[in-house]
Amino acid sequence: MDVVLDPETRSIKGTERLTWTNPDSAPVDELQFHMYLNAFKDNNSTFMKESGGAHRGNTAKDENPWGGIQISSMRIADDVGDLRPELLTSRGADLTQSMTFIQPDDGNVDDQTVFSVQLPQSVAPGETITLDITFESRLPEIVARTGWAISESGNPFIFAGQWFPKIAVLEIPGQRYVPADASKGVWNAHQFHANSEFYADFGTFDVTIRVPESFVVGASGIQVEESISDGFKTVRYKADDVHDFAWTASPDFLEFTQQWRHVSIKALIQPAHTGQAQRHIDAAIVALERYDEWIGEYPYTTLTVVDGIGGSNGMEYPTLITAGTTYGLPTWMRVLELVTIHEFGHQYFYGLMASNEFEEAWLDEGMNSYIETKILDDAYGPGSVMELGPIKIGDIQAQRLGYVKNDPSKGALFTRSWEYRMGDYSKASYSKPATVMNTLERYWGWDMQQRFLKAYYAKWRFKHPTTRDIQNVAEEISGEDLEWFFSQFVYGVAVVDYSVQSIRSTKKDDGSYSSTIRVRREQDGGFPLTLRLTYSDGTTKDLEWDGTESWRDFKLQGGSAVIEAFLDPEFKMLLDINRLNNRLVANDYADNRFARKAQLRAISLYQKLFFVFSGLF
Ligand SMILES: [Zn+2]
Repeated sequence: MDVVLDPETRSIKGTERLTWTNPDSAPVDELQFHMYLNAFKDNNSTFMKESGGAHRGNTAKDENPWGGIQISSMRIADDVGDLRPELLTSRGADLTQSMTFIQPDDGNVDDQTVFSVQLPQSVAPGETITLDITFESRLPEIVARTGWAISESGNPFIFAGQWFPKIAVLEIPGQRYVPADASKGVWNAHQFHANSEFYADFGTFDVTIRVPESFVVGASGIQVEESISDGFKTVRYKADDVHDFAWTASPDFLEFTQQWRHVSIKALIQPAHTGQAQRHIDAAIVALERYDEWIGEYPYTTLTVVDGIGGSNGMEYPTLITAGTTYGLPTWMRVLELVTIHEFGHQYFYGLMASNEFEEAWLDEGMNSYIETKILDDAYGPGSVMELGPIKIGDIQAQRLGYVKNDPSKGALFTRSWEYRMGDYSKASYSKPATVMNTLERYWGWDMQQRFLKAYYAKWRFKHPTTRDIQNVAEEISGEDLEWFFSQFVYGVAVVDYSVQSIRSTKKDDGSYSSTIRVRREQDGGFPLTLRLTYSDGTTKDLEWDGTESWRDFKLQGGSAVIEAFLDPEFKMLLDINRLNNRLVANDYADNRFARKAQLRAISLYQKLFFVFSGLF
């Protein structure tokens, strides 16, 4: 692409030469493209209807806040190598009139975020077609991770995301959910939805961007050229093996750089936030180190962290992420670190795995949120999200509460993102999968979990894995059938809650005790768990329960009575929505009143703390 930014009209004009190779074993006579800036064209797009015109707290309030893309010309290139003899006649063919907007998801005829173009002749299997496209993109006032804004100092800020006509993914037989015996591939192109991010194919980008001389630019990939003439700055970026290309530009940016092994880290920071530049870089390194150790190598050589404005913040693009901060953010509030680490994690699950976020958002947002909790708690300790005096909030617990407190019986992870009930998308894509994966890790241990994550990355990077694929890897690595786990917590909405109902001990004539402990499964979800019993002499005993029956009596004989029963004492099962009923102290045991009082006080304090804590989220 070769593009020019006009900050006055907030438009990007340019040309795109697209080289596309048919991956199918059948000929292709139609191409499909994303035109996602058209989501911000007017109030009738599917995005605007679904979001009610608002997104992530940003509303369009400028007198002309709208955006959009127009293609003035699309033609088959006439200056590229040899074509099949029958395609030679198509050389230079004008396809502009063959472009038709389509609405594969909802039939909203006013939505112009996907188009199809019929080719005059089909592209044979393995054959390459080259198109020349001339387009103009008008950026909206910043909304949903793209657009323009005016900074506090009055300067323009540009964030170009979803900004060019981008070819969709042709899924071939055997790929993702296309049956292996299908006669040909199918285009997987979704309209831009309020509750969804993206899905695209891997490619190689070579982009030349011209901006006014005073602008500082950041972009996906590696900068290979920069020159200045006639008041303009021209930069050229190349990005290999990525599925999108985004860039940002503003005269305000201050640039900070640091090298980490093979990666050049660059932070583009707003002038008021220079005191936090190093925090951005340090958080990026915290994430790079742990991803490298736990999952696999970051294969790119650049990473740009952008301190953006408003709705551009908290987003990922290949090798470029936006974090953002506020002036004077205290170091005990690790929002900046959390966002930087989270967005970096997308380089793996969004960038390298490139799962379909429209259809299986949890594979990106959820897996990423899980690793985010691991990194935060590992790097910053039990108060990783917030640490103020005695109040410590860790990320694993914060995500668990996000799940527990938001109607846990609704919103399966495996759901198409625009079909969630209001409010379920974020739970099912972030807090619940983070909790599901933390529970799986506690179930079989960190060693197994790490083997699973490494194998998943090694096998599926650059290949668009599905939910079925991640389950297969987990089963192959562990040798365990995980259908019970996936069917309940990934495909289904099983809710886990176990309780100790009663403890009854009777003293027999010979002085020994007979104890009966009744435990119950309170909801539909089942999970194997440990029951820990404490006897009046201070000893403990662990029993295993597969957790499938709706209730069960454990009967024991011993020299002393059971005074306490605790289900899942090590808190492995983070999915258990109510921990308060997991523990019971025998109330008919009178020999040791003092101990019992202490136990009850501890439980009551725990209960109070739980509610104070959970009220924060
Ligand atoms: Zn995310």
